[in-house]
Amino acid sequence: MRQTCLTVLVLLCCAGAAGAAAEAETTASVLSTLWSPAELAGAAGERKSGRLGAPDRTPPASVAVPALPPLPQRLQGSLRRVDTHGEKLVALTFDLCELADQASGYDGAVIDALRAAGARATLFVGGKWLRSHPTRAMQLMADPLFEIGNHAWTHGNFGRLEPEAMAREIAWTQAQYAVLRAELARLARERGLSESDLATIPKAPTLFRFPYGRCRPEALAMLAEMGLPAVQWSLTTGDPDPASTPERILKNVLERVRPGDIIIGHANGNGHGTGEALPNLLVELSKRGYIFMKVSDLLAAGRPVAASDCYDGHPGDAAQYDAIFGDGTTHPRKKNGPGPTPKPTPAP
Ligand SMILES: [Zn+2]
Repeated sequence: MRQTCLTVLVLLCCAGAAGAAAEAETTASVLSTLWSPAELAGAAGERKSGRLGAPDRTPPASVAVPALPPLPQRLQGSLRRVDTHGEKLVALTFDLCELADQASGYDGAVIDALRAAGARATLFVGGKWLRSHPTRAMQLMADPLFEIGNHAWTHGNFGRLEPEAMAREIAWTQAQYAVLRAELARLARERGLSESDLATIPKAPTLFRFPYGRCRPEALAMLAEMGLPAVQWSLTTGDPDPASTPERILKNVLERVRPGDIIIGHANGNGHGTGEALPNLLVELSKRGYIFMKVSDLLAAGRPVAASDCYDGHPGDAAQYDAIFGDGTTHPRKKNGPGPTPKPTPAP
């Protein structure tokens, strides 16, 4: 009996691995059919983040949202990390935030380093960012190394937003992803590929990350109802801080990393030193035996560890952003008149 179970298990494992490899190959062919290596590579100047004259609050071209199944109990709450029983699995995550008054960038160094190392990662992308970077967004969606999560439409602060605005921030991002997924299918058809070639590209993001590390019980309940787990983090690179350096990121991560960690950095040009740190960081983590997983695979590989609140390093520390960013969708206004220039506040 034991032998039979083992055989079945081995067969299932092998079938799974072979299936996954075939799937990756199919999706990789979508990527390579649509874009050359030169078109996929990051370009100088794309990293820069700018400000818009007035906030852009226009909705996506369609607001139709693909329905997701309700969230199982084990994925409810603010997910911090995963208990992997000591297995050295980690999830690298990078946020691509874009506020209503922001034109944020694309940090090609981060994406290129992940691709060069074949390192899987999860990207939490703002809906408005998806709209303002359609080609980059579709490349990331089509790349089997990456998984796309929802990072709200205009980086709203879910500690402060009214319920209707919270629902919009979530739904419009899901809708914009669907718009780009349809465009990706159209481009693929033009190049002789069929819908079945795109089968492994999800129809909708199935993960969410609260901007600023801020949430409240109503926000968590709304997400659960919409079928999206709230994936926060257990280890930060500290890269929103303009004083962050590649050396500091390496030290921060390598000194603290534990099995099952969800690590946060930024790939929208607001991650200081991340792209430069990444090649070494990936090598050093691999040397220590760590395997890089997409968040959804990490969540399935162990016991998700949830908190009842959202925060950065310790409970309550993200509440400071309420006073600075208000509803979160725009940058704080510069104060008129004399007085010291406010120091920029690093916010996730
Ligand atoms: Zn963010």
